[in-house]
Amino acid sequence: MRGKVIVISAPSGSGKTTIVKYLLSEFPELIFSVSATTRKPRKGETHGKEYFFISEEEFKKKIEENQFVEWEKFYDYYYGTLRDYVDKNLDEGKFVVLELDVKGALNIKKQYPDAELIFIAPPSIEELKKRLIQRNTETEEDFKKRIERAEMEMSYKDKFDYVVINDNLDEAKQNAKKIIENIIRGG
Ligand code: ADP
Ligand code: 5GP
Repeated sequence: MRGKVIVISAPSGSGKTTIVKYLLSEFPELIFSVSATTRKPRKGETHGKEYFFISEEEFKKKIEENQFVEWEKFYDYYYGTLRDYVDKNLDEGKFVVLELDVKGALNIKKQYPDAELIFIAPPSIEELKKRLIQRNTETEEDFKKRIERAEMEMSYKDKFDYVVINDNLDEAKQNAKKIIENIIRGG
């Protein structure tokens, strides 16, 4: 049986990576779709694990060769979902998890109509700022761009199939877990 695409979106700093890592550790049925990006790796990130870190030139070549299911440019960087990676895993019957921005998520639904879209929301923009400051991985300029974008992204949340509010992390993890169980069971 062909697998299914599960898209997880959230404004940067909402806790999406933290929750996705937890879900991947809980469910062997899930596989993370590694996107390509032109941004530089953060401390602890590895090529081929969080992203395929490639040059702008390589990225543009892949666009021309139609290797992306969807791609977006924001914060001066390109991000794209690799078509072969997704389709190969779907053919193997896996549940493929895509961590995308909101526009990428809605784009995916057009191409994979049975995709399940999950939105992770921070309790407030103030809390989001705090988390990004605490994570301390962005320059001042990138931080500002991410906050500006967060408000726009929040306005998309009603277009998603599920919304998880990440206030208390343990509760958010359990809520996300229930959603995934439901999707895997075909509910
Ligand atoms: P994203 O992938 O959405 O950008 P991260 O998973 O990197 O977000 O989380 C941003 C920061 O907030 C990280 O430092 C993470 O440890 C922290 N964080 C995540 N969830 C919570 C929470 N519920 N309460 C407090 N801090 C959190
Ligand atoms: P970050 O730089 O924090 O890893 O990611 C920035 C944003 O890019 C996040 O919203 C993340 O979900 C999104 N993103 C990562 N990969 C892709 C992708 O392949 N396509 C799209 N559209 N967005 C992506």
